[in-house]
Amino acid sequence: MAATIGVCAMAWDFETEPDFEAKLEWMRQFVREEIIPLETLADRWRSAEGRAVFRQITDPLKDEVRRQGLWAAHLPPDMGGQGFGQVKLGLMHEILGQCAYAPSVFGNQAPDSGNAELIAVGGTDAQREQWMQPLLDGKVRSSFSMTEPGAGADPTLLKTVAVRDGGEWVINGHKWFSSNASISDFLVVMVKTGDHDKPYKNFSMIIVPTATPGVAILRDVPTMGEPDHRTGEPGGHAEILYRDVRVPFDNIVGGEAGIGQGFALAQKRLGPGRIHHAMRWLGQSRRAFDMLCERALTRYTHGSILAEKQMVQDWIAESYAEMQAARLLTLQAAWKMDQLHAAGKHYSDARVEIGVIKFWGARVMYNVIDRAIQIHGSLGYTTDLPLESMYRAARAARIYDGPDEVHKVTVARQILKGYRPSDPPVEHIPTRRAAALEKYAGYLDELAITS
Ligand SMILES: Cc1cc2nc3c(=O)[nH]c(=O)nc-3n(C[C@H](O)[C@H](O)[C@H](O)COP(=O)(O)OP(=O)(O)OC[C@H]3O[C@@H](n4cnc5c(N)ncnc54)[C@H](O)[C@@H]3O)c2cc1C
Repeated sequence: MAATIGVCAMAWDFETEPDFEAKLEWMRQFVREEIIPLETLADRWRSAEGRAVFRQITDPLKDEVRRQGLWAAHLPPDMGGQGFGQVKLGLMHEILGQCAYAPSVFGNQAPDSGNAELIAVGGTDAQREQWMQPLLDGKVRSSFSMTEPGAGADPTLLKTVAVRDGGEWVINGHKWFSSNASISDFLVVMVKTGDHDKPYKNFSMIIVPTATPGVAILRDVPTMGEPDHRTGEPGGHAEILYRDVRVPFDNIVGGEAGIGQGFALAQKRLGPGRIHHAMRWLGQSRRAFDMLCERALTRYTHGSILAEKQMVQDWIAESYAEMQAARLLTLQAAWKMDQLHAAGKHYSDARVEIGVIKFWGARVMYNVIDRAIQIHGSLGYTTDLPLESMYRAARAARIYDGPDEVHKVTVARQILKGYRPSDPPVEHIPTRRAAALEKYAGYLDELAITS
C-alpha cells in the first residue's frame, strides 16, 4: 500500500495483505491444534517404530499443507515453492517456530530447506533433479557439513580437502556439528579446492551421498540442547571422518562454475535462513511470553498477584519491547532482501540488517525465556513445563550460523564505512564556533555596532 503525502508517495506499511493473513490464521490454528500436541509424546517418537508412527500421523498433515499451497514455500515457484518472498516467509516462520515439529510438516525443515534452496539457486539442472526434487518431495534427508573441530567461526581455516582425480573428487577431512547427518541421505560438504591468494575463493561445496565408502559417522555429539541424544535420531549433530571419499566430479554444486564458489553459495544459503531463524526465535519468544503473562495473572504471593509487582511489570514491558523490536528489525531485513531480489541485486547488500537480527533475535529469545522461567519459580525449572528445554535450545542460537561476535564485527565494520576519522572531532565546539564566527562575520560586525 502506498500512502500519499502531498506529492510524494512512499511505501511504509506494517500490515499483512488480507489474503495472506487468512493463510497465517489457518497456520496458527493448524500448528496449535495438530502439531503442538505431538510434543508431549516426544519420547514415543525416538525408536524406529515410533518414527514410523510419527510419519503415519504427520503424512496426512503434510498433505493438508500441500492442499493449502504452503508446502516448501521457501523456493521460487518454478522450483515447486510459492515465491512468497522473505517477508511472507518470515511471518510464516514466526508461527512454525513455536514447535520443533512444525517446520518439517511444512516442508521447511533445516537443514533440508537451506540445502534445497542452495541447489535451487546454485545447482545444475541435473543436481536439481537428482537431489533437490527428492528433498522437496520429502523423500530424502540432507545435512550441511561445514564446521570442523578446528574451524568454525572463521571458515577460511577449514582443512577438509577435495582433490580432483580424473572424473572424481577425493575428499579427506574431519567435520563435526553436521546436523542430521546420521539420518541423512546426502551431505553438502564444504571443502578446500584451491590455493588462491584470496582465501574466500579456495572453497567449494560438494554433494556426497552419506552411504559413500569412506564416510564414517563417528557419533552424534550430545549437547546441552539434547544431552541424552542417541546417534541416528533426527536432530543430532554428527562428527564425521571423510577418508578418501570418492564422488563424481559433477557433484560439485554448480558444476565446473562452482569451483571456488563455496562461500558465495554459503551466503545465498544463509541469508534467507537467518530471517527464518530469527522469526522462528520470535515464535519461541512469544510462547514463553504467553506463559510469563499467564503466570503473572495467576500466582499470588506477598499480598498480590505477580502481575501487580512492578518488577514483574518491568519484565513484561521489557519483553514486549524487545520482541517487537526484534520483529520489526527482522521484517525490515526481510523487506530489504525482497527489494534487492526484485532489483536483481545480491543479498549481501542487506548484510548489516541480517547481522543485527542474528544476534539481537537470539538475545531476545534467551531473555524472554529466562524471565518466563524466573516467574514460574521452581516450576519453571522443572521438565513439567517446556521452558527448560526451550532455554537449552535457545542458548545454541548465539553460536550456530555464526556466533554473535562475528555478526557484530560485520555490522560494526559496515557501519564504520560510513564514517571518517577526524581530529579534532567534527562536533568540537571551539572549532565549530571559530567557523561560525567566520561564516556570520558580516552579521556579527553589525551586531557589535548596534549592541
Ligand atoms: C546446535 C548447533 C547446530 C549446528 N549445526 C551445524 C550444521 O548443521 N553444519 C555445520 O557445518 N555447522 C553447524 N554448527 C556449527 C556452528 O556453525 C559453529 O559452532 C559456529 O560457526 C562457531 O564455530 P565454532 O563452534 O568452531 O566456534 P569458534 O570458531 O571456536 O569460536 C568460538 C568463540 O570465539 C568467539 N569469536 C570467534 N570469532 C570472533 C571474532 N572475530 N571476534 C570476537 N570473538 C570471536 C565467539 O564467542 C565464538 O563463539 C552448529 C552448531 C550448533 C551449536
